[in-house]
Amino acid sequence: MDVDLNLTVAADGHVGCRHCGARVGTSSATPLDLARRSERPSTAAGPGVHADPARFTDRPIALRQAFCPGCLVLLHTEIVPADEPTYREWSLR
Ligand SMILES: [Zn+2]
Repeated sequence: MDVDLNLTVAADGHVGCRHCGARVGTSSATPLDLARRSERPSTAAGPGVHADPARFTDRPIALRQAFCPGCLVLLHTEIVPADEPTYREWSLR
């Protein structure tokens, strides 16, 4: 079952990359647990995110991204408070 343009759920339940076939998640409940992760300052998101977050909040703000471990296609992006302990989660039902 295709999840989106990048991810598919295989017959055995793992989540794979539709571009290269690499395993990205061990199950539909943890679809990105094998993805490569990156965390940088939110201003690294590009010209659309240029304001200094300190003007709006006391918390540090981070750009977090998840990539396919095989072909490095970008799978997930979020701009969130950097002091949150884990990535926001999503799963398939
Ligand atoms: Zn891939």
